[in-house]
Amino acid sequence: MSRTLPVKKNDYIDVEFEDLTHDGAGVAKVDGYPLFVASGLPGEKAKVKVIKTGKSYGVGRLIELYEKSPYRVDIPASEKHKYGGCQLEHISYEGQLKYKENQVRQVLARIGKLDDVQVHPIIGMDNPWHYRNKAQVPVGEKDGKLIAGFFKPRSHEIIDTDESLIQLPEVNEAIQTVKEICRKLEIPAYDEEAHKGVLRHIMARCGRQTGELMVVVITRTEDIPHKNKLIEEIIARLPKVKSIIHNVNSKRTNVILGEKTTLLWGSEVIYDYIGDVKFAISALSFYQINPVQTKVLYDKALEYAGLSGEESVIDAYCGIGTISLFLAQKSSKVFGVEVVPEAIKDARRNADLNGITNVEFAVGQAEVVIPKWYEEGNAADVLVVDPPRKGCDAALLQTIIEMKPKKVVYVSCNPATLARDLRILEDGGYMTLEVQPVDMFPHTSHVECVVLMSRGEK
Ligand code: SAH
Repeated sequence: MSRTLPVKKNDYIDVEFEDLTHDGAGVAKVDGYPLFVASGLPGEKAKVKVIKTGKSYGVGRLIELYEKSPYRVDIPASEKHKYGGCQLEHISYEGQLKYKENQVRQVLARIGKLDDVQVHPIIGMDNPWHYRNKAQVPVGEKDGKLIAGFFKPRSHEIIDTDESLIQLPEVNEAIQTVKEICRKLEIPAYDEEAHKGVLRHIMARCGRQTGELMVVVITRTEDIPHKNKLIEEIIARLPKVKSIIHNVNSKRTNVILGEKTTLLWGSEVIYDYIGDVKFAISALSFYQINPVQTKVLYDKALEYAGLSGEESVIDAYCGIGTISLFLAQKSSKVFGVEVVPEAIKDARRNADLNGITNVEFAVGQAEVVIPKWYEEGNAADVLVVDPPRKGCDAALLQTIIEMKPKKVVYVSCNPATLARDLRILEDGGYMTLEVQPVDMFPHTSHVECVVLMSRGEK
């Protein structure tokens, strides 16, 4: 028998927000029935319109705010100045940090039953603006003019954007410059609906420490009209550019990068440093997008690993080997494992680049490779995991419990799967000693944590 819901679609009701969802929407309860409303903040009273009702929750739209939260700020710039995806832009930075830290505590308690665990105050940025080292913006046409910026939320309409407050100034400048050049040369924008036209995306990447710049133009067609002129102008107008890449994506798809990548000018890669470790970054490489906070995160992981130089370490989900190379400086040997073969190629190249010889990288699934290593007698003293949002595979957690590394350092981009996995490891004999949230992505709802676990007594 279906329960009668306390609200109906199109109702206007007065509510008070109690909480935020994991992606930053306000939560109000109507007779216990949760209503999610974008931009509502805890403590705020408002009139909302119900726009959707489901079995377990409804969705509303904010109509009028009666009482404002002290954490509410005016959105710092007009739509023209930002790229989408900043779910928390209406919350002061202090409020964002408080919300993220609370979220970690709540989720660890609710999902992980870890009520007493030590969660340190979140480490935020001193200056939470202009932090991203990479942008990829969709290109379209409006009133006969080439535009580029970001998709309006839940639509395919492109908002033309001049400057993003979360991108490094060098990245903003590169995107803006390439856009102007393409406009001037009248390179046709891609038309998504008709699947016609040429220029789909402009991407720019910057090595924050080196200042080196990479520009990638992504087109539907193999040919770029006025290609030589385009290259010439980019070089002339962006003196820091070291690499200009062409990527062809001929498919009807939302995926940005396509099947074919060629070098138009300069080097295939740009370089950057995290701490003392140098990285080569190609157009297709995964590389952390907030280098300042990445250093903070890796320093914490290194501190938690507590290496004396004697230990053998496994770095599971190692990507291009960033954490592995960081840890190699303080351990006897590091074994990195990662499922994407190109990433492992980058990892090996990065090891060579730094003259680091005590690392070994393997391609494969962590949950397959690590049990095999364990069977072969390779049991690490310290195990680091940095899985994608879905967390660690159950088979990997089981192997950790059997292998009994002295310490597990868990780097996580999703508190919910972190909490689930910590519970499994706790039940298998580990103790969660410390949890350190780090704000890697200010103004978005993402929160990163690094956690130290060890066997035995607290
Ligand atoms: N530690 C790296 C990358 C972390 S992102 C860094 O800090 O830069 C998570 C990585 O896990 C991605 O590179 C993804 O390709 C990889 N991955 C996803 N599933 C995997 C699996 N089952 N086994 C090994 N690696 C996996």
